[in-house]
Amino acid sequence: MTDLLQYQPIWPNSPEGGWHVVHVLKITTTRSCWMRCRFCDFSHFVPMIDGHPVPPLTLLQTSRTHPALSQAYDLIKVRGGLSFFEPWSYFRSAIRDIHERNPASLQALSAVEVLHFHRVEQKPLQELLEELRWAGASSLGPGGSELLIDPWRQEMSSLRLTSQEWLGIHQIAERVGLKAGASLMVFPGITERQILDHIQMIRNLKSLSVIEIKPLRALGTDLEILGSPHLFEVLATIQVIRKNLPHVIVAMNIDHLSGDVCDLLQWHGVSRAMATKEVLEP
Ligand code: SF4
Repeated sequence: MTDLLQYQPIWPNSPEGGWHVVHVLKITTTRSCWMRCRFCDFSHFVPMIDGHPVPPLTLLQTSRTHPALSQAYDLIKVRGGLSFFEPWSYFRSAIRDIHERNPASLQALSAVEVLHFHRVEQKPLQELLEELRWAGASSLGPGGSELLIDPWRQEMSSLRLTSQEWLGIHQIAERVGLKAGASLMVFPGITERQILDHIQMIRNLKSLSVIEIKPLRALGTDLEILGSPHLFEVLATIQVIRKNLPHVIVAMNIDHLSGDVCDLLQWHGVSRAMATKEVLEP
């Protein structure tokens, strides 16, 4: 096997219609994060010194009063950077409020945030995940699983959790009843070896049911010079996943994609299309 990612052209007679479109509400907790992941546009330095106060988050107020939460969605994603001051209980309350106001599936926080609160508040991981489930989350977000290869992580996001830590948190999450999901970031030049190593890691999640493909969007980040992956790299990545994880749903966000690209994605095996219906920013 070569390291190079090879695209195998396919010529379907007709588009496989009928991918499942999921209408998403995204709620951003904070657009600041000190983790400094090079591919992330939330990775902004947040001043901590007196005289440069960080404004308090508005998530709790949003969760209690925002009218968008009265509308219908298939999925609500609560995601964002890492806060300095708000405690775990703040996020737990906000998630509970969101769930009480809207019955949609709720993907809340990620292993990165869970590990952060585990360290800061010294609470066992299982307890945090049980509380997340109790608050109404149906799954953890896939954050932290962009590419579960430690040399890549060391280069791109060295402060963030390791592949084993990500896996360990998701294995506990599975046990407490949170659905298992992962992501894969397609960056320019990604190799088949890297994709297979990533797949090898997420195979350890017994109930893995969905993998979200995320083409690198580097605008405004440290990696802007790399640009975006070629469409063929995205399609070839999907082919490798379909071949090696045939039972797993391949999902992708289709905001800003043309109809032609959407057709190609369907033909190559993306069966869940996520369309953002609303975004609530801090
Ligand atoms: S931990 Fe997540 S939010 Fe923070 S910089 Fe990294 S990718 Fe962005």
